[in-house]
Amino acid sequence: MRILLVEDDALLGDALEAGLKQAGHAVDWVRDGIRADTALATEDYAAVVLDLGLPRKDGIEVLRGLRAKKRSLPVLILTARDTVDDRIKGLDAGADDYLVKPFDLGELNARLRALLRRAGGQPAPVLTAAGLSLDPATRRVLAQGQEVDLSAKEYALLHALMQHPGRALSRAQLEQHLYAWGEEIGSNAVEVYIHHLRRKLGADAIRTLRGIGYVVAKEAP
Ligand code: CA
Repeated sequence: MRILLVEDDALLGDALEAGLKQAGHAVDWVRDGIRADTALATEDYAAVVLDLGLPRKDGIEVLRGLRAKKRSLPVLILTARDTVDDRIKGLDAGADDYLVKPFDLGELNARLRALLRRAGGQPAPVLTAAGLSLDPATRRVLAQGQEVDLSAKEYALLHALMQHPGRALSRAQLEQHLYAWGEEIGSNAVEVYIHHLRRKLGADAIRTLRGIGYVVAKEAP
């Protein structure tokens, strides 16, 4: 999933970026509130990890601006200020969850998984569709009960499609999911990954809707 990370602390930002990438996300990291606004206006993220104390524009203001535009993407706030007031302010401004620094990277990733589940309308921790199952906690994928070994990008692509079974995603939308800034996108990268996935999961696992995109059906083929 494509995640926007907003954190001005270089050491913490580094660790967070690495931890989120480790969990299989494509991560864009910005260090102030104005850059966060720009990123949110131009890219399509699955979730935002937002520090509250930021240069140029406070995290709370970034969050209020986002919610004023009725954007519903999940936001997890990070606060160094362990006061109840701060957390209440953040939740009232539209945050979906929060963590107080210092926190554990494993907990951050688990909370993100929960937010992404809810956003995808899939309350069960393991995603299932079309004879496939995908567990975001362990990144295990099963096809007809057999474990399948996927590359990081193949996994990310399948995760994006299985987040909303029955809903087609265009090539451009899939590229948004798969690539952070600065990552080079091959001109037919998505087609190549789809080809690999079909080889590993079965030819019918992912359907092509001509002129629209790709879809994982709700029911087994
Ligand atoms: Ca800060």
